[in-house]
Amino acid sequence: MHEVALSHQLASAVQRASGGRTVLSVHLRIGALRQVVPESLEYAWGFVTKGSAMEQSELQIDWVPAQIECANGHQRTLDPNEYLDVRCRECDAPTSVIAGEEFAVVDIDVTSDN
Ligand SMILES: [Zn+2]
Repeated sequence: MHEVALSHQLASAVQRASGGRTVLSVHLRIGALRQVVPESLEYAWGFVTKGSAMEQSELQIDWVPAQIECANGHQRTLDPNEYLDVRCRECDAPTSVIAGEEFAVVDIDVTSDN
């Protein structure tokens, strides 16, 4: 379950950013290609942050759909369960991924006291 590893990375980033204050919520952007299962991430986050200042925090997640573009500029947004096209459906040129690999903290909310 790679959500545990992601939660550990996330917790150390949030820990640094919060400076030890109580964290209320963590706003994330996660790309579809990260293969993150929302329920698993929520569960892992609760487990990893237990006993810390992030224990009560809530994850707010913006999901970013996968998007590809070919060498000729044709873009396509993929449905969640679709496989990546190696070649463009319109012109057969090789494609590259332009969105969907994100895993980023957008914002965190911390308590204003202390
Ligand atoms: Zn194309």
